[in-house]
Amino acid sequence: MAEHRLLTEHFGMEGIQTLAGYERAGGYQGLRRALRELTPDDLVAQVKASGLRGRGGAGFPTGTKWSFLPGDVHPRYLCVNADESEPGCFKDRALIEGDPHQLIEGTLIAAYAIQAPIAFIYIRGEYFDQRLLLERCVEEARAAGYIGRGILGSDFSCDVIVHGGAGAYICGEETALLDSLEGRRGQPRLKPPFPAVKGLYGQPTVVNNVETLSNLPHIVLRGGSWYASLGTEKSKGTRLFCCSGHIERPGTYEMLLGTPIRELLEEECGGVWKGRRLKAFQPGGGSMQVLLPEHLDLPLDMEAVAQAGSALGAGAMVFMDETTCMVNVSMRLVDFYHHESCGKCSPCREGTYFESDLMHRLERGVLAPEELTTLSDICDNMNGKCFCPLGDTATWFVMSAYAAFRDEFEAHCGAGRCPVREPRAAEAVA
Ligand code: SF4
Repeated sequence: MAEHRLLTEHFGMEGIQTLAGYERAGGYQGLRRALRELTPDDLVAQVKASGLRGRGGAGFPTGTKWSFLPGDVHPRYLCVNADESEPGCFKDRALIEGDPHQLIEGTLIAAYAIQAPIAFIYIRGEYFDQRLLLERCVEEARAAGYIGRGILGSDFSCDVIVHGGAGAYICGEETALLDSLEGRRGQPRLKPPFPAVKGLYGQPTVVNNVETLSNLPHIVLRGGSWYASLGTEKSKGTRLFCCSGHIERPGTYEMLLGTPIRELLEEECGGVWKGRRLKAFQPGGGSMQVLLPEHLDLPLDMEAVAQAGSALGAGAMVFMDETTCMVNVSMRLVDFYHHESCGKCSPCREGTYFESDLMHRLERGVLAPEELTTLSDICDNMNGKCFCPLGDTATWFVMSAYAAFRDEFEAHCGAGRCPVREPRAAEAVA
């Protein structure tokens, strides 16, 4: 088995959702070491040396992001982005449920590195049970002296506040998250200024993803160079991949970066279900471009997947078998982005409306062939022209599916039905 357990090492361990259980497993030793043996600058250097990159989608180097904070401006804030809403993505939920104190310890280490007196964990509104779990764990950690004034006898003080979102996908975009946290409607801000310079309440702010921070206790305990020895030249360490769709064993798997995608599918996920063949997959969640069976031998490596025309994104692998209608999948994803568009800019607000209308008519088989050109034009007028990445990504899957499955798109035009799914419906009746 190629699964490599670092972040998921304690998953399933008895009592791991309690402070006592986490301490029994060696928990909070990373924070203890950071506070006793490392200065904040040492920590930033360790994380830079580790090569750790953000696990929220963009893959920006974490230590470099921290070092963008202006040296003399205080207070600074740390925001933990737990607003996991990407279609197909559930790894942060797994980390919160599987090892909640690991995230809290990583949060405190990051807060110490950037000298933030308060860290906010912004958690997706629908993750209600996970929010309650985190709140209970924060209280336990506070009572034990890991959170609060003079943590573990040091001169570092930090509070941790868990804040629930209200169920908007756009609040996973870091500046919309900050607006929401400030009590405003969650909409992206104009950048620059970037959050590192002017973020929460106008102060320097770092926004890090749940998985990114969960790596920190391990990096502090074993060293940045040890972490850098894992993975590939530019994609270091392990990553959690949430695998779903037409596979035998859906779930969250931690893989060493550089492992072939085929190994993840065939060894961990048990292969495509029901003995069927793979038709296509998305390597990074609903936002990312479609890949084909010929891409299965690509390594789980951000650069390699980008070269193939897609991205590992937030680590959500959605596999589709040979019976899948790519027009239907495209329509559902376009509907999602249409629903989640925050309405701030017209290319996305209007574009997702027209995209959705065209895709619904195409799926029903009532779109005229020439209207496929209209669909391409609309996507061209959105991609790269929207205020934030949501509008761009609303076009990526549909355009990549149109390029790869042009015959299937064209066969829907004027067919009066879905030519891919309807034969199956007829079989079921028979
Ligand atoms: Fe809002 Fe969409 Fe514009 Fe982003 S691209 S600001 S989500 S309307």
